[in-house]
Amino acid sequence: VIGIELHADWEPRNGYVATGAEQLSRRVNKGSMVWRNPQIRPAVVPDPAPGEHQVVIEIAACGICGSDMHMYECDAEGYMLYPGLTRFPNVIGHEFSGRVVESGSAVRSVRLGDLVTAEEMQWCGRCRSCRRGLFNACDNLEELGFTVPGAMAQYVAVDEKYCWKLADIAERTGSEREALQLGALVEPLSVAYNAVFVRNQHHQPGNYCLVQGAGPIGLASVALALAAGCALVVAVEPAVGRRRVAKELGAHYVLEPADDLDENLLHLTRGQGFDIVVEAAGAPTLTLTPLERCLSPNAAICHIGRSNGLTPLNLEAYQRRSAQVYAAQGHAGNGIFPSVIRLLASGQLIAGPMINELFSLEDAPIAFRRLRSRQDAKLMLHVNL
Ligand SMILES: [Zn+2]
Ligand SMILES: [Zn+2]
Repeated sequence: VIGIELHADWEPRNGYVATGAEQLSRRVNKGSMVWRNPQIRPAVVPDPAPGEHQVVIEIAACGICGSDMHMYECDAEGYMLYPGLTRFPNVIGHEFSGRVVESGSAVRSVRLGDLVTAEEMQWCGRCRSCRRGLFNACDNLEELGFTVPGAMAQYVAVDEKYCWKLADIAERTGSEREALQLGALVEPLSVAYNAVFVRNQHHQPGNYCLVQGAGPIGLASVALALAAGCALVVAVEPAVGRRRVAKELGAHYVLEPADDLDENLLHLTRGQGFDIVVEAAGAPTLTLTPLERCLSPNAAICHIGRSNGLTPLNLEAYQRRSAQVYAAQGHAGNGIFPSVIRLLASGQLIAGPMINELFSLEDAPIAFRRLRSRQDAKLMLHVNL
């Protein structure tokens, strides 16, 4: 069977000392310090067999994530941009949906034929973090499509404990195909949900929400903010294609970054400032540092974009505003996946316009090349849709 494999050379940067465990397993916490010359290509990969607690899912659709792009793209010295947990070579892809076609002997919660999606964060459930309910901070984390084989393939094997059924969406749309497309958006929507409504526990309907960066996670934040009753949703994004999608999703205002942005933003809130600020641009020195005048009292800043380096913030202004910054990654726990599925099934969460175009699995390299311009929101691979 076919899968999209990412290969890269193991060449730790000068000064980076890989631990013994990292050298042995090739599983590293800081991918951008080690992996060089990344390349993706369709390859023949092993046909997965389910473990006792696993199911094999026949993939229907798999979206291309910003993280996939960051694993594929490199800096001037040829090092991978993605700064996180990785092991290569590996089949990538983690935003997917499909049908259960095989099941291990101990599986109880899903059946053959079920339409499902699954969590990318493969938390263990046994470590100290997991036992505190902090699954996204699992001490033994594996990540589907980063350290273990992912979903840009015909089949993937996952533990049943990560699977969530899509039947409710299929029932509402009356179309399995549409349910499977929306199902492949549940993961990125859940990443945004975790930041905006779980890490930040201050949301109230009527809030004013600012989303910085309208890539997939920013757009997911726009869609969720609208579904959750924000009275004003403003997106800021440099790429015209992505600004168009933000408008289609229903953002009230969509702006380009500019020098007098904070003035304009403050004006849109009638001088009251934003209650929720989502950093989904991965450029906090550009998006958060100039923003202090636009924070409402008790403002929540939800930081999801990935960036290296330090961000200067005037914490005096944050104190005066009683503002808080929430750092968020992942999507596991707290009923996030099932809540997103409910919202899609109810029709309250409109996410379909995020999908710009579908490509076949074999054409993944074409889709990756096109996404380099960052004009599209979500390009999706269809496998058996
Ligand atoms: Zn992702
Ligand atoms: Zn754990």
